Amino acid sequence: MNTLEDIYRSSVSFAKGLGVTFKNFLRKPVTLQYPDERPVLPVGYRGIPALLSDKETGKARCTACGICARTCPLGLIKIDSVLGPDKKRILNDYTLEAGRCMVCNLCVESCPFDSLVMANDYELADYDPDKLYFHKDRLVELGRPYEHSDPFHVDEPKKAAAEAKPAGEAKPAGEAKPGPGGEGA
Ligand code: SF4
Ligand code: SF4
Repeated sequence: MNTLEDIYRSSVSFAKGLGVTFKNFLRKPVTLQYPDERPVLPVGYRGIPALLSDKETGKARCTACGICARTCPLGLIKIDSVLGPDKKRILNDYTLEAGRCMVCNLCVESCPFDSLVMANDYELADYDPDKLYFHKDRLVELGRPYEHSDPFHVDEPKKAAAEAKPAGEAKPAGEAKPGPGGEGA
C-alpha cells in the first residue's frame, strides 16, 4: 500500500515538475545580449543626480543655495561658489561623490529651483576612484537630455495633462516653486 502511494506521489510530483519546465520552455527569453541590447528602463528609474541647465543660456540652473548639499544624508555634494556684485551666489563648481551615492533622490526633491534631475545613466563605473567625483561640467552634460523634462523625471503625460487644465484649476505642486531666476538662500 505504502509503495503504491509513494509511486503515485512521485508521479504527481514529476508531472508538476515537467509542467513548470514546459511552461518556461515556451516563454520568451528574458536575457538581454548586453551591451548590444539595452534594457527599457522603467519610469522613475534612478541612475545618478545630474544638473539641469537653462535651455537658452546652456548654463547650470543651480543658484548655489546649498540646500541639496545639506540634505544629502551622506554629505556627498560640495558647492563651490562666490558672492557676485549683486549679492547673488555664482556657482564655480558643483561636486558629487558619485561612487558613494545611494540614489535616494533626496537632493533632487529638496532643490527649490528644479535644478537637479535623477538621470537614467547607469554605465558610470571607473577603475580610478578619483574619477567618481563628478564636477559641474560633467553633471550638466548628464542632465542635458532632461532639460525639457519634468525635473522629478516622473510621468510626462500626466504633467502635460495637468498643464492643459483650464485656468483656475489647481496646478501641480512643482509649479508653486520659485523659478531658476529666483534668489538663493
Ligand atoms: S539650486 Fe538646487 S542644485 Fe543648486 S545648490 Fe540649491 S538645492 Fe542644490
Ligand atoms: S541621491 Fe541621495 S545619496 Fe545621492 S547625492 Fe542625492 S541625497 Fe546624496
